[in-house]
Amino acid sequence: MIFDILTIFPEYFESPLRVGLLGKALERGLLKVRVHNLRDFATDKHRTVDDKPFGGGEGMLFKPEPLYRALEALRAEPPSPWVIYLSPQGRRFNHRLARELSRKERLVLLCGRYEGIDERIRAHFVDEELSIGDYVLFGGEVAALVVLEAVARWVPGVVGCEDSVKRDSFAEGLLKHPQYTRPREFLGYRVPEVLLSGDHARVERWRRERSLEITFERRPDLLREARLSPEDRAFLRE
Ligand code: SAM
Repeated sequence: MIFDILTIFPEYFESPLRVGLLGKALERGLLKVRVHNLRDFATDKHRTVDDKPFGGGEGMLFKPEPLYRALEALRAEPPSPWVIYLSPQGRRFNHRLARELSRKERLVLLCGRYEGIDERIRAHFVDEELSIGDYVLFGGEVAALVVLEAVARWVPGVVGCEDSVKRDSFAEGLLKHPQYTRPREFLGYRVPEVLLSGDHARVERWRRERSLEITFERRPDLLREARLSPEDRAFLRE
């Protein structure tokens, strides 16, 4: 899968693209991430990409011409990309969208700065606008990284054990159960006995019930869409 990131701060992505599973996936060629400097698509000697908004007001906006040239150059290359503008006004990004987007061959992630971008680009040259939450960031770079990581996890091979992705929070509609590692006892706090029992069926049931419990307590909204067995429903009624 290919990601093209369009930004005025390409250096922002240097470390995140080198470390952890993302770095490994890039090394192994499972993902390709290309970072493009929007200023390379400006035509004046100062490489200007912003201007004052018509009608007055504070702040600056990305001008349409460099954005248009950059997006046209990216679209001209195969495979045809899906262009996403990261914006607080977009559709709220979530687990389901991450999974859906991972089926695309190529994404362009456009990072705004300042007051955002000229409306004509947003309205006519962007396929989708995504927000990572109800707050305003300085720029779209953090949001682009959030989308990149969440999508990349679903690209086959990126997370070594694919089953673990399918068992993470949200994948089955619930939050994940608590997990423990050695030692068995820490400062007097013990690992639940069932996890040491070696009884696989009991462990699975315990995990499912803890997932249901945590989801009920913290995110009851998720239960509306989760696939629940009659046994799950009986447990939740208790
Ligand atoms: N003036 C804009 C508004 O009120 O909606 C906010 C612009 S913000 C300061 C600058 C850039 O940060 C945006 O163009 C966008 O790319 C990015 N950004 C800010 N908050 C975001 C969020 N919650 N999700 C995704 N991108 C965001």
